Amino acid sequence: MSNTILLVEDNTAVLRTMQRIIENDGFGVVCATTKQEVAAILQQSTDFMACVLDYSLPDAADGEALPLVLQHKIPTIVLTARSDMETREKVLLQPVVDYVPKDTPAAFEYTIKMVRRIQANPGIRVLVVDDSSTIRSYLRQLLQRHRYEVLEASEADTALRMLRDDPSIRLVLSDHDMPGKSGVVMVSEIRRFRSNDELAIIGVSGSQDPAMTARFIKAGADDYLNKPFNHEEFFCRVTRNIEFVENLRALSRAAHEDPLTGLPNRRFFFENVLKQTRPFGVAMVDIDHFKAINDQFGHDMGDLALKLLADLLYGRFMGKHIARFGGEEFVIMLQAGHERDMLAELEAFREQVAQMAYPTARGELRFTLSIGAAAGPQDIGTLLKLADDRLYKAKQQGRNRVCID
Ligand code: GH3
Ligand code: MG
Ligand code: MG
Repeated sequence: MSNTILLVEDNTAVLRTMQRIIENDGFGVVCATTKQEVAAILQQSTDFMACVLDYSLPDAADGEALPLVLQHKIPTIVLTARSDMETREKVLLQPVVDYVPKDTPAAFEYTIKMVRRIQANPGIRVLVVDDSSTIRSYLRQLLQRHRYEVLEASEADTALRMLRDDPSIRLVLSDHDMPGKSGVVMVSEIRRFRSNDELAIIGVSGSQDPAMTARFIKAGADDYLNKPFNHEEFFCRVTRNIEFVENLRALSRAAHEDPLTGLPNRRFFFENVLKQTRPFGVAMVDIDHFKAINDQFGHDMGDLALKLLADLLYGRFMGKHIARFGGEEFVIMLQAGHERDMLAELEAFREQVAQMAYPTARGELRFTLSIGAAAGPQDIGTLLKLADDRLYKAKQQGRNRVCID
């Protein structure tokens, strides 16, 4: 997908400000100031990620440039100095992404936020649950306008199965009255295996029951929309709920992840270990003479070495529990009843790292590892202490080795 935004605005001061804001975010910008220029640009290429379009242009005072852009299915955010009802309704009747009145100081900020969403949304899965295929298609085309990836289910049990199979679904839009299980019951069942920080749920119903909002929310939904709704409100709620889940996920990641390497941190490691059945094995991995890498090459290269090691650990022990414990010390947890079950794998890894020579502007980066390992039916604290003692022994015996007794 192209990373370029088509920016259409006849006021040059506004145009330059918008261009700077959008470019600062890493997007490319192609500018136009009239409908005629827009037409000429679109003849050359229609490969734009999105269009930010001023409603009134010198040669198109009443939004005549809008259909020109929409006809090429370019997601379009309309900026306008007119906030009258008539213009708003005229714009919203067309398949635009959003309508932003320029009269608020937050308009530019809001616009760039929507551009970022258009960029991020293609990776976000939304599940629409409704027994009516007409409504499913209607919601699908609205969501696709914002470039979400849309999945559909015509009944609650199918939706539940899809959600269990696919933890990457971030939002569910669900009807209430459906043959079989109702939307409200389905929501309460979803919440048994999917929390609010993984998935947002919006109830969407035409029910006349005044308690419907409360029923959905008490069952675990985050929000509710009454049918029929207007597009503007629909998109506001969808965006807000997606942002909410993203923020919660980012917070939880920050609490569990080491920011430098992206590996789980010590705390997350212990939380997971408690769920493991014994016996198991742990290996403590420590870079040899790491301080010398920092001293000789600088701190950035030290950081790079840590990231390289994390990638190698991830590549070889994917699916196992690995963590950065602190500094240049990493831990691997393996299914093992005895130390000798782990030896070959750890030796191979030690050797792989010892053979690595990573080219950098400041010369080849190389390092070796010392590893101490312990396995058995003991508790995690005991095994880690044993592994740590053996790591110390590996250092004493000359480094670049695995010690298992
Ligand atoms: P040994 O072979 O005995 O393990 O020696 P060492 O130099 O690897 O170990 P030591 O514990 O003496 O030094 C570890 C150094 O790691 C000290 C610290 O400044 C550095 N360090 C810890 N965390 C980071 C980090 O995130 N980035 C960088 N660049 N250095 C770090
Ligand atoms: Mg070290
Ligand atoms: Mg150390």
